[in-house]
Amino acid sequence: MSQDYAHYPKQYPDQTGHFGQYGGSYIPPELQVEMDKITDAYHVICKTHSFIEELRSIRKHYQGRPTPVFHAGRLSKMCGGAQIYLKREDLNHTGAHKLNHCMGEGLLAKYMGKKKLIAETGAGQHGVALATAAAYFGLECEIHMGEVDIAKEAPNVTRMKLLGATVVPVSFGLKTLKEAVDSAFEAYLKDPVNSIYCIGSVVGPHPFPMMVRDFQNIVGVESREQFLDMTGSLPDVVCACVGGGSNAMGIFSGFINDPVQLIGIEPGGRSLNLGDHAATAAFGKPGLIHGFKCYLLQDEKGDPAPVYSIASGLDYPGVGPEHSALKDEGRISYEIINDLETLDGFYTLSRVEGIIPALESAHAVAYSMKLAREMKHGSILVNLSGRGDKDLDFVTQTYGFNMKEARSRL
Ligand SMILES: *Cc1c(COP(=O)(O)O)cnc(C)c1O
Repeated sequence: MSQDYAHYPKQYPDQTGHFGQYGGSYIPPELQVEMDKITDAYHVICKTHSFIEELRSIRKHYQGRPTPVFHAGRLSKMCGGAQIYLKREDLNHTGAHKLNHCMGEGLLAKYMGKKKLIAETGAGQHGVALATAAAYFGLECEIHMGEVDIAKEAPNVTRMKLLGATVVPVSFGLKTLKEAVDSAFEAYLKDPVNSIYCIGSVVGPHPFPMMVRDFQNIVGVESREQFLDMTGSLPDVVCACVGGGSNAMGIFSGFINDPVQLIGIEPGGRSLNLGDHAATAAFGKPGLIHGFKCYLLQDEKGDPAPVYSIASGLDYPGVGPEHSALKDEGRISYEIINDLETLDGFYTLSRVEGIIPALESAHAVAYSMKLAREMKHGSILVNLSGRGDKDLDFVTQTYGFNMKEARSRL
C-alpha cells in the first residue's frame, strides 16, 4: 500500500487533451474540426446553470440517482477480513453505469441543436444506453454494429430497435467492434452538422476521455459522501473493473485527492498468453488506437492485439488515457482477475447477498473477496457497475449454477 496520494497533478487533461504523454487526438483533419467544435461546446454549455440543473433533474427523476451504497455484511463475514461495500450502479435505469455518460452526451447534443446520435457498439450495452438517451431527448439514433455481434447479441439488438434506434449492420473485415467504429466515424463525417458521435467509455480522441469521465464523476461524488455518512470515514480501498475505464474513472475521480488506495481490476481471461486476456494496463505498451494514445496490447507489428474476456464489456485492447497516466504516476494500481475467479464472484454475490452482478462487475467483486481475506480489517468500496440479467443465459448454459459445475466444465 504505497500509492502516492498527494501527487495528482493539475487538472487533467491539458489544453490539447493530453494526460501526460497519453490521450490527444490522432484523427483526420476533417474529423478534428468536428472534435474541436464538440470540445468548445462542452466547455461553454456544460458549465451553464441550465445544463447542470437539467442533468441533475434527469439523474434524480429518470435514472433513479443517487444509487445506494450497500454494506455487503454477509459477504464480508464470509470473507472474514475487511468490510465490503457496493456502490449500486446496477440500480441505474437500464441496469448499468453507462447511462450516466449517455444522458450527458444526449443533453449536450440537445443543447448543440443536433438531431441524431451516432455510435458503434460491441456487445450492445453502449448501443442500448445511447438509444435510451435518444428516446428520452427525442433524437434519432444510429448504432453501427458488426454482423458477428448482431448475431451474438440478439436481445440487445431487439432493445435498440424497440427504443427507436436504427441498427446498421457492418459487414466488412472481421465484422466486429473495430469495423463498427470505422463505419460509425464514416457515417458521422457525412453529416457532422446534424449529428454527433457519442463514445461509450473514457477512450477515443479528445474531448471524450474528459467528457465521459466528468459525466461519470457523479458515481465518485455520491459514494464518497454516502460512505462518509455511513461509516464516519473514507474507505481504505476503492476498486472497479476496467474495460475502457469509464466506471472506474467515475468512482476513482471522487477519491483521487484522498488517502484512499485505488485499484483497477483487469480481465485475466482464460490465460495470460496474448489473445487470452484483456489486461491492458498490466501487459500493454504505449501505442495508438481509435485516435488516441494509451497502454495498448499489441502484436509484433504494433497493431492492437486480439483480446478475450468472459465479460464482453471488458475485451478492449486499449484503456483510457487517464488510466494510462495515473498508472505511470503510481496513483492507480491494476490487478488481474481471471474467468474462473469472476464466476466465483458472480455466483457468490448472487447467493450470499441476493445481487446478481454483471460479469464485468463480478471481476471487481471477486477481487474484493480476495483482498478482504488478506486485509485483517478496514474497508473496500466496490463499484458494482451493472446487473447480471444480460449474462444469465450465457453463464448458466455454459458454466452451470455454481462453482462445482463451472470447474467441471472448464
Ligand atoms: C461496458 C461495461 C463495463 C466496461 O466499461 P468501462 O468503460 O470500463 O466502465 C463495465 N461494467 C458494465 C456493467 C458494462 O456494461
